[in-house]
Amino acid sequence: MTFENLNLIEPILNALQTEGYTKPTPIQAQAIPYILQQRDILGCAQTGTGKTAAFSIPIIQLLHAQPVKGNRNIRALILTPTRELAIQIGESLAAYGKNTGLKHTVIFGGVSQHAQTQALRAGVDILVATPGRLLDLMNQRFIHLQHLQLFVLDEADRMLDMGFVNDVRKVLKVLPEKKQSLFFSATMAPEIMKLADTILVNPAKVEV
Ligand code: AMP
Repeated sequence: MTFENLNLIEPILNALQTEGYTKPTPIQAQAIPYILQQRDILGCAQTGTGKTAAFSIPIIQLLHAQPVKGNRNIRALILTPTRELAIQIGESLAAYGKNTGLKHTVIFGGVSQHAQTQALRAGVDILVATPGRLLDLMNQRFIHLQHLQLFVLDEADRMLDMGFVNDVRKVLKVLPEKKQSLFFSATMAPEIMKLADTILVNPAKVEV
C-alpha cells in the first residue's frame, strides 16, 4: 500500500514526501478511503498509530476540492482534549496542507484569547480546539459553525476521563445536522459507544 494507492492529490503527496512518510500506517490505509467517500468513522486507535494524519489528510483533500468563494468559513472542526494534542494537530495540518492554501488555527484555554480571536477573524477553513475555549469563544460570537461539514472528536475516552462530556454535548448541539463525523478513541467502553451513537450515522469501523 502506498499513499498514491489512496488516490491522494499531488499537493498532499508532495507534502508527505517532504515529511519523509513512505507508506501509510494501518489506520491511515483503513480510514482514508472511507473518509474520502464521506463516510462517518468509528476509529479505535491510540496515539502513535498515525491517527492524526489518518483524519487530517483526507479532511485537507476534501476541503481543497471545494473552491473558497468570498469569506472563509470554518468547514472542519477538530475537538481534542488537551492543549498539547491541539498544538500537535495544528502542526500536522500545517505540514500536510502546506501546498493547498487552506487555513487553520488552534485554540485552547489557559492563555489570552486575543491572538486566537485575531486568527479567527482573518478566516480559517479548519479549527482545532479544546472544548472549554471553544464554548467560550462561541458564546462571545467569535466562532460560527453553521458552515461546518466535518467534525472530528479526537481521543473521546480522554475527553470523558477529563470531565469534558457536557462541554462536548453543548458543542454538538450547535453543529449542523448534516455533516460528516469522525470519532476516535483508544478504548470503546460502553459510555464511549453511547456518545459515539449520538454522533455517528452508519459509521465505518476502523481498528488497529
Ligand atoms: P499520531 O499517532 O497521529 O500521534 O502520530 C504519531 C507519529 O507518527 C507522528 O510523529 C507522525 O508524524 C508520524 N507519522 C504519521 N503517519 C506516518 C507515516 N505514514 N509514516 C511515517 N510517520 C508517520
